[in-house]
Amino acid sequence: MRALCLLVVLAGCSEPASDPVEVAPRAGEAPSDPDPGGPELEPRTAARTRGAPPATGPEAGPSAARSPRVVLLGTGTPIPDPDRSGPALALTHGDTVVLVDAGPGVVRRAIGAGLAPEALRHVFLTHLHSDHTVGLPDLMFTPWVVGRVEPLHVYGPPGTAAMVEHLRAAWVHDQRVRTAGLEGSAPLTVVAHEVRPGEAATVVGPFRIEPFAAAHGSWEHAYGYRIDTDAGIVVVSGDTGPTDAVASACDGCALLIHEAYATARFETLPAAMRRYHGAFHTSAREVGRVATRGRAQQVVLTHHLLWGATPADVVAEVRESFGGPVAFGEDLAVYPVGPAASPQAQGERGSQPSTR
Ligand SMILES: [Zn+2]
Ligand SMILES: [Zn+2]
Repeated sequence: MRALCLLVVLAGCSEPASDPVEVAPRAGEAPSDPDPGGPELEPRTAARTRGAPPATGPEAGPSAARSPRVVLLGTGTPIPDPDRSGPALALTHGDTVVLVDAGPGVVRRAIGAGLAPEALRHVFLTHLHSDHTVGLPDLMFTPWVVGRVEPLHVYGPPGTAAMVEHLRAAWVHDQRVRTAGLEGSAPLTVVAHEVRPGEAATVVGPFRIEPFAAAHGSWEHAYGYRIDTDAGIVVVSGDTGPTDAVASACDGCALLIHEAYATARFETLPAAMRRYHGAFHTSAREVGRVATRGRAQQVVLTHHLLWGATPADVVAEVRESFGGPVAFGEDLAVYPVGPAASPQAQGERGSQPSTR
């Protein structure tokens, strides 16, 4: 991996040259899960929805998780839906938090999920489409303003380093005032790491993270990520057309988080839209085939494009070829990582109540 120690404001870069990204597992992160009942299929709702105080306790949200879990921070698309934040999710285990993508609203959703701002220190970008990165300056600056002193590590495809540098430059006056003025802020440090498939995996606490090449239309570099945890593998498709790369990365994964559009409605779209979405994205029907080939234990749909279809319609399209549990992701839904529960416990998916 080429680690680009990019950005240090008013201070020298303190990142070691040898392996700046590996964080040793913490002694307190026991692999055992105190939560009873093992894996579950119904997602929990993360700590906080509108107007509610932050929840506490082991069942409340990812900040309390002693076993790995995924919380969806944003399940939206470029469409500015007030109920769906921009694409982002968090993997958490104990005190370790790894984010994938930084869509608009990422920091506020993370706080809503019960995550501490100073824990937001590692983000992996699938690609540099604006809907997945408009929240990056938020992630760089907001936790820093409220007290994060450790570096933010930003991992992503080629172009990530330049994006980080441009964002730093865009707020140069903010940094000067906050560090030199009465606020007395510590210097902002953000370290960009441009990663490529096939290179050494990145280890962050208990997670081992590897990019793989997705098939996102004309994007030269678009990734999915495979994240190994001690309870199973999580695969995040990122934005992609149907590709065997996702199935290969999954290979029996505990949780496949895949983008999806409504297959039947797609057929009704104008030709230009069909050309675009057919090249850049994956139909729910195709998600089912990918999940089956990859022997996924559970599928969670995100980055949905419905065009008037319902969540149940889309889930049904996945289930045409995939026999396992399928969830229609909602913002702040939490999924423990682990083997799928018995089919008897699954119930019907796809019409789960909103978390809002
Ligand atoms: Zn997108
Ligand atoms: Zn995209």
